[in-house]
Amino acid sequence: MEKFYAKNEHREKIYRFQDEIEYPLLPPQKKIRLPYPWELAEKSAPRALVSSDFSCKGRKQHADRVIMLSGQEERRFSDCEGGEAHGIPEITPILLTLLNHIQETTGRHVVITSGHRCSQHQRYLYPGDLTSSSLYTVGAACDFYVEGLENSPQTVIKIIQEYYRKDKQTAHDPSYTLFHRLPLDRSQVITPWVNREICLIVHTEQEHRNPDNAHNHPYISLLVHFDRLKNRSIESELRQALPAAE
Ligand SMILES: [Zn+2]
Repeated sequence: MEKFYAKNEHREKIYRFQDEIEYPLLPPQKKIRLPYPWELAEKSAPRALVSSDFSCKGRKQHADRVIMLSGQEERRFSDCEGGEAHGIPEITPILLTLLNHIQETTGRHVVITSGHRCSQHQRYLYPGDLTSSSLYTVGAACDFYVEGLENSPQTVIKIIQEYYRKDKQTAHDPSYTLFHRLPLDRSQVITPWVNREICLIVHTEQEHRNPDNAHNHPYISLLVHFDRLKNRSIESELRQALPAAE
């Protein structure tokens, strides 16, 4: 073997400078990984929500939804290009106030799953409906859940009701502090709560949900039907502005 190695030995010159020194190898040390930005974000307090967080969730790449009309006729609905493309109306201030209040009280992130919906996106979500306007299209409603409280939406409902009992403007007005229960809609499982200004609906995992809410948690719909500052009903204005059915 030695002969064999000697025969095949191939030497190569290594050029060095005269003053070169050889550094000794240090024993390996464990390096602690720096946290990723999203890991930091989880620990930090949630930032205040702003209008742009309500941006329309429509996307051009969403597949068309097709519904069959009576007979063999089908109707196709394509999604919009998203909030960045078409903008956003003024978000009703109380929506922002309430959601930020939830974040401040719980220290947890509010995740808006469906904020503003342009009329095209609204039709895409509910292709069977003839009307294309709702409280969502005018920036007066949203669907959301709270991180860490996904499975206890009733806790969030209590925080909102508590807000009306403590806020200086509403504390002495029973039309704000008292929440009535609405009769159940055919699709609902939990009776909604309503006061002069807002309506709260909890959707369970079992209920049918629109594509905006394609997650596994229960979620809350927060609808503002009365504009306190302008002293007008948003709902009745919407009904007046409805285009005639096609
Ligand atoms: Zn849109």
